[in-house]
Amino acid sequence: MRCRLCNAAMSGNLQLSDLAWRPYQRLHLCQRCLRTFEILVDRPTCPGCGRANDGALCQDCHRWEQQGETLLHHSALFTYNTAMKAFIQQYKGLGDYRLHDAFAGMWPHWLQHWTLVPIVSEPGHLDRRGFDPVLGLFADLPLRQLLAKAATDKPQAQKTRAERLQTPQSFAVVQPVSGIKQILLLDDLYTTGRTLYHAKDALVAAGFQGKVQSFSLIR
Ligand SMILES: [Zn+2]
Ligand SMILES: [Zn+2]
Repeated sequence: MRCRLCNAAMSGNLQLSDLAWRPYQRLHLCQRCLRTFEILVDRPTCPGCGRANDGALCQDCHRWEQQGETLLHHSALFTYNTAMKAFIQQYKGLGDYRLHDAFAGMWPHWLQHWTLVPIVSEPGHLDRRGFDPVLGLFADLPLRQLLAKAATDKPQAQKTRAERLQTPQSFAVVQPVSGIKQILLLDDLYTTGRTLYHAKDALVAAGFQGKVQSFSLIR
């Protein structure tokens, strides 16, 4: 097998096997590339949004609570460092779908106890890019597509922080939620949390009464 990023030939490497859901699945990144990413696992993070800090609830999460939100208790695998920004630029910016399974096999084992609901792209973005980056990233997991996203005015990536936070609700629940106990929303990147809180609010508005938390590749 060859590394998804640098194309180096690799033998089986199972360095993350203690963390991963499927411990015998081979990783798709070589050790050299893997080391360029900054892992968040076992570091102190905000219990609300998963950002690396001293372990206290951050200001942004206090604000979500003040707005009446139940916190998502978000967690993520990696920080948005230079290497990860380059990965996202190649994968989402340039639309290089070959990278979609770069992080396959690294998902923490506790994910298997949740109903995994991806944050899907809106139709216009899907048409332009030709693939859904979140479905691609998590394609090795059993996903339940409960949510659909309507078109918004402009892509999140082109918005300021204030504009992101003012984005209106655009999610609809497209499958029955009865019988589901706990939902883990999956996204590629947690930025302001606006998208994930909208997704949770849509599930609650559709009558979902269980627990909703969230997970992303990057924080
Ligand atoms: Zn590599
Ligand atoms: Zn926080």
